[in-house]
Amino acid sequence: MTIQDRPEYTAHRHCIYNRAELERSRDIGCFSCMKIFHNAQLINEYCDGGETALCPCCSKDSLIGDASGYPITMTFLHGMHEIWC
Ligand SMILES: [Zn+2]
Repeated sequence: MTIQDRPEYTAHRHCIYNRAELERSRDIGCFSCMKIFHNAQLINEYCDGGETALCPCCSKDSLIGDASGYPITMTFLHGMHEIWC
């Protein structure tokens, strides 16, 4: 399996233009600072014309929500962190 086939790689497209998806998510994780939170209302910064959410903890565009279909766990976030950070 190449790195491009790993779910931690393909999940990255859910980190941009993800405002609506995060608002549908119960669990939201940041693969930059490794925080998991449970309320999209904590997000108060966006970029890309208001469509890409920025992490309330570290202000990076590295949030993914469970509405993406990917698991929001520390293990998964660590995997994304290794690939993308
Ligand atoms: Zn963060």
